[in-house]
Amino acid sequence: MECPYCGAQAIWRDSSIIYGQNYGQVWICSRYPTCDAYVGCHGDTKTPLGRMANAELRAWKKKAHAVFDPLWQQGDMERGEAYEWLMGELELPRAECHIGMFDVDMCERVIWAVVGRIGRERVQSILRAFAG
Ligand SMILES: [Zn+2]
Repeated sequence: MECPYCGAQAIWRDSSIIYGQNYGQVWICSRYPTCDAYVGCHGDTKTPLGRMANAELRAWKKKAHAVFDPLWQQGDMERGEAYEWLMGELELPRAECHIGMFDVDMCERVIWAVVGRIGRERVQSILRAFAG
């Protein structure tokens, strides 16, 4: 796999280089930490959980989850319904509708979709709590 940020080769290895201890296998840029892109894998396989992400994209994905997840965790929808709704908003097939696979642009679209559903103030308060 090639790093989508710098084009260097990605290496499959354990994640201790990132976390100080091993939480499972990752694909990580061979230029790490100069380039800090990586992605976790399913168990001990070489199958990535999404696209390789740098710090900026990781932050956006956390924000997208922080505003989206309450829709089904505490809202009026079941998890499946919430993803159905998101699919419609983003015009994506279900197989591609995973925040883990999104780029920064798609994460922003998730946040705007949720703004459209629950309103800007509630989204801002989630993001404020999240940032703090
Ligand atoms: Zn890289």
